[in-house]
Amino acid sequence: MGSVKKEKVIRTGVNTRVIHHKENFSKETGSVMPPIFPTSTFVHGNEGGFDYTRSGNPNFRILESVLSDLEECQFACVFSSGVAAITAIVSSLKAGDLILCEENLYGCTVRLFEQVFNSFGLKTLWVDFTKSNFKEVIAKHKPALIWIESPTNPLLKIIDIEAICNFSNKMQIPVVVDNTFATPLLQRPLKLGATLSLTSTTKYINGHSDALGGAICTESTAWKEKLNFAQKALGLNPSPFDCWLINRGIKTLPLRLERQINNASKIANQLAENPVIKFVRYPFRNDHPQCKLAKKQMTLGGAIVTAALNTSQAKTFSFCKSLRFFKMAESLGGIESLVCHPATMTHASVSKETKLKIGITDSLIRLSVGCENIEDLIADLNQALESIS
Ligand SMILES: *Cc1c(COP(=O)(O)O)cnc(C)c1O
Repeated sequence: MGSVKKEKVIRTGVNTRVIHHKENFSKETGSVMPPIFPTSTFVHGNEGGFDYTRSGNPNFRILESVLSDLEECQFACVFSSGVAAITAIVSSLKAGDLILCEENLYGCTVRLFEQVFNSFGLKTLWVDFTKSNFKEVIAKHKPALIWIESPTNPLLKIIDIEAICNFSNKMQIPVVVDNTFATPLLQRPLKLGATLSLTSTTKYINGHSDALGGAICTESTAWKEKLNFAQKALGLNPSPFDCWLINRGIKTLPLRLERQINNASKIANQLAENPVIKFVRYPFRNDHPQCKLAKKQMTLGGAIVTAALNTSQAKTFSFCKSLRFFKMAESLGGIESLVCHPATMTHASVSKETKLKIGITDSLIRLSVGCENIEDLIADLNQALESIS
């Protein structure tokens, strides 16, 4: 299947790379789009080295090759969801191991660590990785793994990936970066020193809210083997059809993101002018506390805008409900705009104290900005704001 030798490859542009894949398993038919391989098993001794779909399938391989091309790294491994990808990493640890976690991780990551893996002896410690004492904390606890996310959900806090990786690499502690919000298009965790770059492909990578998936990219052969083992041993594999859908979605990732980011930055600026808005959080706005760092480690500010309203929870809810184009729903990254009320939706399972500690108040909203016409989105936000003032 093509040459995988490490000779010098000429890197084409990212738009070209997401459209043209090295592997498509359709030599005999000339089919421009790859076929779907809905098969559970394969004849022994085949050229592709496939045996059973739980441990590999041509559609996994196609998507993995596009994802590793996008991230410009050696290996990618696909899973049935972002949470399955997280499970794969954690399952390689043992009882008593400690994960040093950023305190503002994705809600389902927190739930998985605290309510599932903790009962198998996994230890977790939650810290604010924007604090300058992170080196002492790492040196003191010597964790088995460091887990960060940047920008975080929903407050878009920016973590200095390079600074953390520089220090933990010296201590040989692997660093996992959940890169779902930025995507490899805006941020390259592996280039900044991370061991594993994790993405929920359910979000921007697929971009059409019609499939679930997860992926992990790495330069480490040892980790690639551990991840493949977890995929097979724990049954974390995706379906061939979902991989095919995600591979189709990824072809328009750069196009979609460009439009979404454009819309998002305009919306952030518009909202900031409105007196009903207490504050707006957007990584590339000058009033973001870590705007400089965001501009250093990301190429653009992304398509999520978070805002706090100067009003009660009831009115915040009524604002969300009055929106016409921003559907009130979990998830993000699709071509359609969505609004989320983190305190009662994505972070409902997080304790009240933790929510307050990390700044998830009752009047906070998160917008996942889509590809609609910007005038329509802004008019929609204005009418909903008027309806509550
Ligand atoms: C959605 C999400 C996940 C989990 O992914 P699923 O595909 O829903 O399992 C993990 N991390 C982040 C940051 C996410 O947004």
